[in-house]
Amino acid sequence: MKAAVYHGPRDIRIEEIAQPEPGPGQVLIEVSRNGICGSDLHTYVGSSTGGASMHVPGVVLGHEFSGTVRGLGAGADDLPLGTAVVVAPIEYCGSCWACRHGWPHMCRRLALYGGYRLPLHGGLAPFVCVSRRSVFAVPAGLGVAQAALTEPLAVAVHAVRRAPTTMGATVLILGAGPIGLGVLQAVRSGGASAVIVTDPSGARRTAAAGFGATVVLDPTVDEPQVAVRDLTGHGVDLVLDTTAVHSAINQGVAALRPRGTLVSRAGWQEPARIDMGRAMVKEIDIRFSMTYEPEVDFPVTLAMLASGAFAADAMISDHIPLERLVNVGLEELLHHADRHIKILVHVGQ
Ligand SMILES: [Zn+2]
Ligand SMILES: [Zn+2]
Repeated sequence: MKAAVYHGPRDIRIEEIAQPEPGPGQVLIEVSRNGICGSDLHTYVGSSTGGASMHVPGVVLGHEFSGTVRGLGAGADDLPLGTAVVVAPIEYCGSCWACRHGWPHMCRRLALYGGYRLPLHGGLAPFVCVSRRSVFAVPAGLGVAQAALTEPLAVAVHAVRRAPTTMGATVLILGAGPIGLGVLQAVRSGGASAVIVTDPSGARRTAAAGFGATVVLDPTVDEPQVAVRDLTGHGVDLVLDTTAVHSAINQGVAALRPRGTLVSRAGWQEPARIDMGRAMVKEIDIRFSMTYEPEVDFPVTLAMLASGAFAADAMISDHIPLERLVNVGLEELLHHADRHIKILVHVGQ
């Protein structure tokens, strides 16, 4: 079968590999769609501090995928063949302190399908084998193609669950990329009373308005603090940062009300410069959000996709065949990220 195999920075090849067989505790999945993620771009171009150096050469990429159960290993036979499923693509030891406390996403031996840290093949191939515990059935009313959005949206759900509450809250979201737009829909369905979204890209601001933002603005032109004051009089209850931009996070600190909360869900590649004095005088809480807790965030995200709380079709900006992953998918996102929310690679049915 043809798969997208990582060999090094700028060296991802579509090449022939053997079809896998499920081992004990594993499920064989025929992949339907696999989304391209910002972290795949880091892997593709290579970065000194991030994912690329942690990627194992010779492994099939892809961690945002959906598909159909086609085979079951010993001890993994509780899922009927033919079930539509998604995969929470983390592997964890189950025995370290974090795992024993129910936080496998902070496992000290954490690895990701798609070749992060361990040679675990990902979803950019017609077939993949994963642990039974990573597999979640797609609920009725949700298509298997749309279900490929579960993983990135679970990141947004987890970030919002790290906030004290969203019911009635005023919210500022920094950044309207795929995660920011997921966060926007999640806080809206969580009862936020008003949501301001900032992004320098006009296309992304238009998208945010379409997904229900109360106010959108360009943070390089307008200080969000001013719009926030007009809207609330005293500052927002909650800021969600998805940007990893120093100026943005400080705009967030400035826009918060006293004892507001800032949740950071951004891939910082360097230490952040935060105006700590300003944060202190308002006694703000700064929290962080890392991927997701599969057992909690995946069922919630799937239910929200099935109910329409997440507008899946509106988030899918293109479907491309596997053969065009590099030339169209990765190169397009590298040069025109703001034209897209999520590109799905059409691997199989
Ligand atoms: Zn991702
Ligand atoms: Zn562990």
